Amino acid sequence: LGHHIGDELLKQVADRLSRSVRRGEDTVSRLGGDEFVIMLPPSNHDNWEKAALGAQIVAKKIQEDLSVPFEISGHRLYTSASLGIALFPKDGEDADMILKRADAAMYQAKNQGRGTFCFYERRMEESAKRRLMLETDLRKAIERGEFDLYYQPQIEIKTGSIVAAEALLRWNHPKLGFISPGEFIPIAEETFLIMDIGEWVIKKACMQLAAWIKEGIALRQISINVSANQIYQMDFVEKVESILTDAKIDPRFICFELTETDVIQNFSIAAGQINRLRELGIRFAMDDFGTGYSSLAYLKRLPLDTMKIDCSFIRDMLDDPNDAALVETILSVSSQFGLKTVAEGVEKIEQIGFLRELGCDICQGYYYSPPVDTQAFEKFWKKSMQHPKSMRASAPQQAEKSTY
Ligand code: C2E
Ligand code: CA
Ligand code: CA
Repeated sequence: LGHHIGDELLKQVADRLSRSVRRGEDTVSRLGGDEFVIMLPPSNHDNWEKAALGAQIVAKKIQEDLSVPFEISGHRLYTSASLGIALFPKDGEDADMILKRADAAMYQAKNQGRGTFCFYERRMEESAKRRLMLETDLRKAIERGEFDLYYQPQIEIKTGSIVAAEALLRWNHPKLGFISPGEFIPIAEETFLIMDIGEWVIKKACMQLAAWIKEGIALRQISINVSANQIYQMDFVEKVESILTDAKIDPRFICFELTETDVIQNFSIAAGQINRLRELGIRFAMDDFGTGYSSLAYLKRLPLDTMKIDCSFIRDMLDDPNDAALVETILSVSSQFGLKTVAEGVEKIEQIGFLRELGCDICQGYYYSPPVDTQAFEKFWKKSMQHPKSMRASAPQQAEKSTY
């Protein structure tokens, strides 16, 4: 939204923080970026349990105060705070040590999800060290060419044909080897490195698709994961447009995958951007559906094409009637909204049978293929063209024409 609104938000946050603590006794300061430090002098240093209780009360109050949305220049903005707490003298004898340990506790809190707080514990030191190293290295990873995109095929159940591929980012760290996106994507998001990394991903995926189309690998779509912070960038639509023009790719070949949590955080801005991209022809999928708010009201207001059922439901649906019911409900909602459905994390043939019965369109998972590099993907594609029956292991005899 630009520096001006960012600055204003920081001021208003600072203001609320100051009002959440004791005037004249406690200190609120901004360390840099979006990090604040609050110092609470306890009345009694010897009793750390009492001090901890005091800090906990303040932490809860701060989170409550910050959960009320901010109104800035006509935008309604939602924030949340992750808090790390270190106690003097239990966790450190000087300011440097206390700050370092509060920082480690804060990263632990961030890992546990939005809006939580954590007290420092000794074992956090190791994970804080690793995080700091990853953050430093992540800054150089693009220019050093350490990223790669893997592709996982999406198979239409009815016809057994590969209709699309999801691009999944891989980071080959020079010392640590492959690092899971589950670990480095959250770091990239917090540090806003995701803007550049995400742009690299979109470019790379579009160029790959263009190359594949030339070679006759006629994918109908490539799905790209897009983070909230990317979508919220003012010039995101223009960036995407210029990437597509350079790669000479029709926008209808591209599907952006977003999660509910990302979209709902600042719904009106996200919806505005999604609508603009939709006008270009880009398609949208709701990722991990069922794990977040699963709000039908929001769903109705977004121009989506596809719903992706989270792998956690698929995994247990054959044994757990609750998960089966959830999958059935998601499929029925999605069909009423006129959306296609992709089931994620399909590992067994029995799951495909079950999903087909319920009217699911597309499957993605280890049963067919894990995410693989470009060469392996091309091999898989060619094999599927030569032996189309092998892909239809679970499809009905009369394979109908594709509705994709
Ligand atoms: P996601 O978008 O939900 O991606 C699906 C994840 O499920 C992938 O994990 C994939 O390897 C895994 N998976 C696929 N089939 C199966 C299966 O049959 N069984 C099981 N157990 N897992 C399966 P991966 O590649 O580790 O990615 C993790 C997450 O990282 C992704 O979750 C996505 O949220 C994020 N991510 C990956 N690439 C990007 C990217 O380029 N940009 C952004 N913003 N996020 C990305
Ligand atoms: Ca995804
Ligand atoms: Ca997913």
